[in-house]
Amino acid sequence: MARTASQDSGEWVDGFLFVANRPILDLLNTKPVLAGGPTELLSDFHALERWLIAVGIVSSTKAKNLLRRWRTSPEAATFLKELIAFRERLRDAVFRMEDGSTPSDQIIEEVNARLLQYPSCALIRKRDGQLIRERFFDPQKPEDLWGPIIDDAAALLSEAEIHRIRKCESCVVHFFDTSKKGSRRWCSMNICGNKFKVSAYQRRKRDNRSHGDRN
Ligand SMILES: [Zn+2]
Repeated sequence: MARTASQDSGEWVDGFLFVANRPILDLLNTKPVLAGGPTELLSDFHALERWLIAVGIVSSTKAKNLLRRWRTSPEAATFLKELIAFRERLRDAVFRMEDGSTPSDQIIEEVNARLLQYPSCALIRKRDGQLIRERFFDPQKPEDLWGPIIDDAAALLSEAEIHRIRKCESCVVHFFDTSKKGSRRWCSMNICGNKFKVSAYQRRKRDNRSHGDRN
């Protein structure tokens, strides 16, 4: 994937790609194919910490300080290992959904077990004179990070507009299509869309040339 134009457009935040419209799909996209091949962006807990802040799951100073303290803890390393394994099982489920079938019973059972273990809380807050419902997230230990992640995973697996969950036509990135027509084809115009347009143009030019040669 070409990063330069995409970086300029703000699709990359702190080294992570955010084009999916859903944090849980952005999580799948933390293993993109870059120039050197498939690249694990969540290489250690510090990287996960940066991703959680970039995606907005962690925002309070208190939580940020806790995450910083967990960087070298074995519990945090275990959590990251489990999260990455879960990300790959969820990727399989998303592939199945994109093919029009339902996720496996195993992933549903896993998500349900974690939902019961790490329930999400919400609070109502006043903002700009309006009341908004906000997720209340106050992690005490690394595994509490499952809370918001599993909540988003459950919402994705039970998504009604399943046809809007798609993979880019030319790379490994998944996204939720929020366009009016539902006709989005690329992870991003800057990354794959333009590449496709350029190669289609070159193909047309080549075809015209060989057509001309024959005449
Ligand atoms: Zn793409």
